[in-house]
Amino acid sequence: MSILVIADHNNQTLNGATLNVVAAAQKIGGDITVLVAGSGAQAVADAAAKIAGVSKVLLADNAAYANQLAENVAALVADLAKGYKYVLAASTTTGKNILPRVAALLDVSMISDIIAVESANTFKRPIYAGNAIATVQSDEAIIVGTVRGTAFDPVAAEGGSAVVEAVAEVKDAGISKFVSEEIVKLDRPELTAARIVVSGGRGVGSGENYHKVLDPLADKLGAAQGASRAAVDAGFVPNDFQVGQTGKIVAPDLYMAIGISGAIQHLAGMKDSKVIVAINKDEEAPINSVADYWLVGDLNTVVPELVSKL
Ligand SMILES: Cc1cc2nc3c(=O)[nH]c(=O)nc-3n(C[C@H](O)[C@H](O)[C@H](O)COP(=O)(O)OP(=O)(O)OC[C@H]3O[C@@H](n4cnc5c(N)ncnc54)[C@H](O)[C@@H]3O)c2cc1C
Repeated sequence: MSILVIADHNNQTLNGATLNVVAAAQKIGGDITVLVAGSGAQAVADAAAKIAGVSKVLLADNAAYANQLAENVAALVADLAKGYKYVLAASTTTGKNILPRVAALLDVSMISDIIAVESANTFKRPIYAGNAIATVQSDEAIIVGTVRGTAFDPVAAEGGSAVVEAVAEVKDAGISKFVSEEIVKLDRPELTAARIVVSGGRGVGSGENYHKVLDPLADKLGAAQGASRAAVDAGFVPNDFQVGQTGKIVAPDLYMAIGISGAIQHLAGMKDSKVIVAINKDEEAPINSVADYWLVGDLNTVVPELVSKL
């Protein structure tokens, strides 16, 4: 069986999420090819060639793929996919933008957010914000799926020696163009890759208080910062801090939920964290259903106290 994995990257570095997708591909079993579609992306292809378990890397290097415009990349992937049984990508913004289009172009259904591989054509995926797990069997000729990275331990980034082949074909749909992007520069670890996440909710009260109370804790722990949707909607912190069903899915070693009630949509994004600490003044808050450690108190006093003891 042959598997095409779409690399997630920024033309310079390979996103670690690709290693989780390769891990899922290994669970399926078969020959794994990684496609790097980008511009000036030779370094990414070289990195992909070193991934343990990858047998071939396809490098489609053209200005048409510079910004991962889904219309262009999907057309390329759909064309290449005809030689494969599986097409997999990470459940990242890029993967979720490209793969549904690929499935539509191939006229097959797709499986989103794979969290387990049961057999060659049977997969598990969360539904209802993770409150139920569906087991899905696909009889499609080509199985197209996004993989939730937090559900698969990454394969080693080094150890492989795949060949890199150039793809000459260029697909430029000519129907969209890249205008600009604004990337928030952070001194802290990236939310989805961090080992420790300190998140704040509506309970922190304001953006000013979010930073006053939570920054010292995140600094002490070397943590990334996250937030509930209520905190983001209230403008305390930017959108890309949001953890949950409509935000980022994280599974760090330690997740601290501070002033967050624990709505199911928030839990959907963090309940797979290894250790969950909740700080909340309400001992009935639903976050206690997933918390390993549970501190009842006013965050404005207990967090500074905690920081002073770390
Ligand atoms: C379709 C849909 C998608 C959604 N997606 C997401 C998502 O991706 N992520 C997400 O987070 N939400 C999401 N939501 C919103 C979600 O339902 C909740 O509204 C939201 O998570 C609540 O945020 P919160 O816990 O910060 O606020 P609240 O529910 O208001 O909780 C605030 C908590 O802070 C505590 N608190 C207050 N003051 C203090 C204090 N001084 N000290 C200690 N504790 C204090 C309170 O006891 C309370 O438990 C979604 C909703 C819908 C309908």
